[in-house]
Order: sequence, then C-alpha cells, then structure tokens
Amino acid sequence: MSVFCPKCGREYDITLFQYGRTIECACGSRVGREVKIRSLIVPDRPEELRFMVDVMLGRLARWLRVIGYDAAYQEGIDDGDLVRLAIDESRILLTRDRTLPTEWWIDNYLLIDSTRPMVQLRQVVNHYDLPWHERLFSRCTVCNEPLNPLSYEQASERVPVKVLEHASRFAGCPVCERVYWEGSHVDRMRKRLDETLLRWV
Ligand SMILES: [Zn+2]
Ligand SMILES: [Zn+2]
Repeated sequence: MSVFCPKCGREYDITLFQYGRTIECACGSRVGREVKIRSLIVPDRPEELRFMVDVMLGRLARWLRVIGYDAAYQEGIDDGDLVRLAIDESRILLTRDRTLPTEWWIDNYLLIDSTRPMVQLRQVVNHYDLPWHERLFSRCTVCNEPLNPLSYEQASERVPVKVLEHASRFAGCPVCERVYWEGSHVDRMRKRLDETLLRWV
C-alpha cells in the first residue's frame, strides 16, 4: 500500500507512517496518515478517559492521579514511544510540544498552554469536562495504580503510630506499597483543588 503526497502526488510506502509518523516530502509538504486512537472517538463517560502525559508535564500527571485519572507518565520517554503508547493504550496525549502534532499525525491530543501545573490541570478538566470530586485520592500518585482500601489493622503494621492516632481511613498501593491516609496533607491538596477548579467551572 502507498501513501501519496497531497501536494505533489509523490508516492511513499505505508510502512514509513507507523503510529502516525509524518515525513517531509521533497516538495516541502508534510505527508502522513491519520491515526485514530482506538475507542476514544466516542468515550462513554469522561471518567473513563485515560491520558499519556509528555515528559515536561510530570506534575500535571500527578495531579490527574490525585483526582483519580489514569495518567501514564515516563521520565525521559522519546516522542516515538510516547505516541506509540498513547495509541496502543487508547490514551489522550497531553503535551506542550507544538511540533508533536505535526511530526505525528495524531488526533487525540491536547496542547497544554500554561507552564503552571494547576492551570494545566484546569485546562484538562475544563476541556474534557472531567468530573473530579468523586474519586479524589483513589490512585497512587507515584505509580498511577488504583489504591486498595486498608483496614485499621492492615494499616497499623505499615504506618507510624503517630499517624494511626490522627488518621481514620487508609488505602494502599498494590505496586509500591505506599500507604495513603486522610490527614493535613490531603486537606491542603483538597483546598488547592477547590481553589483551582471550583472557581472556574
Ligand atoms: Zn510532495
Ligand atoms: Zn504506588
């Protein structure tokens, strides 16, 4: 199979365009094939959206996890792997790299405007109309893994006594085994989210 330059008609082999890679034709025009990220075209519910977060947006990835969203992030990943994972795993690509949507012909991405994590979060939440109250603190912010509830007994083996005195609800990450609990840190984050997201919806 072939792909033709829309401007000069030059013919290219289809294998050059894997995962939406585009190439610059001798005539100066960009040639590529549109790649739809599977199953994202009509997402049933916005809370089912999954994200692939570009390297410079690590703090955004963490905040998306805080509000319960599956946000994959890999330090130092190159553009090719980033796009490939987004497509293979049906994730929306979040990036600040304006050249990326040109060099890769992908259609499920959002260009992030701000350099400030909370403003970035607001852009994503507003753009996709994401519910963000229901699943706060349900996911490990380090591994992106959903947390499992822990009983007081289970938690007591894994957290300092001081924490047990003040916290009531506990959850654990099945991957890194971090234990999360309600406390002053969570209150501060919740306040920050309210300030960021409530005022603007
Ligand atoms: Zn051409
Ligand atoms: Zn974890």
